[in-house]
Amino acid sequence: MDAVVKPLRKAQLSEHVRKAPQPPIARPSREEAEAAVRTLIAFAGDYPDREGLIETPKRVVDAYEELYRGYNECPAEVLDRTFSEIGKYDDFVLVRDIGFNSHCEHHMMPFMGKAHIAYKPVERVVGLSKLARLVDVYGRRLQTQEHLTSQIATAIDEILNPQGVAVMLEAEHMCMSLRGVEKLGSKTITTQFIGSFRDNPDEQVRFMSMVRGG
Ligand SMILES: [Zn+2]
Repeated sequence: MDAVVKPLRKAQLSEHVRKAPQPPIARPSREEAEAAVRTLIAFAGDYPDREGLIETPKRVVDAYEELYRGYNECPAEVLDRTFSEIGKYDDFVLVRDIGFNSHCEHHMMPFMGKAHIAYKPVERVVGLSKLARLVDVYGRRLQTQEHLTSQIATAIDEILNPQGVAVMLEAEHMCMSLRGVEKLGSKTITTQFIGSFRDNPDEQVRFMSMVRGG
């Protein structure tokens, strides 16, 4: 395969595909973030200056930088490097069981599970690991599972211009498992079909059975 870097027509891409989010407020300093963690520790009922907790605000802020690093990343750049040579291949490509974790925007608690992504290439294919990276870019932000699913599908559709895209996410939400209704082990499943997958129920069925197929 010949690797080519095609210029993206960024003006035609959705905002969330084209660039990293730019919220209309300045990012607080690290000291401010650590002070906020101290406040939450005290609110939980503990004493932030107790020996075991003294380094905790620093560790929590370190973890935030990792868990939310998707705010610094641009989806279009992740999928930027495409390959133009696909030969006579004319079926969809499925990457199954991509593990992911994210945080729900309602409770800031984790939800995690597996993503399954298929697309039917026309002239551009992408390195398969890039699909997994794309899931992380969107996953490492505050999300709803529905938005996460549709953002992944939209980015693949807009950048690769395939005949179709199918994305399925299955995840367990800690805000349901550990609080609220406390239903451990329940899964939420979301799907987004675009193009040939949306138009053709047989293709959806084939996608689902390949995802389920052991
Ligand atoms: Zn939640």
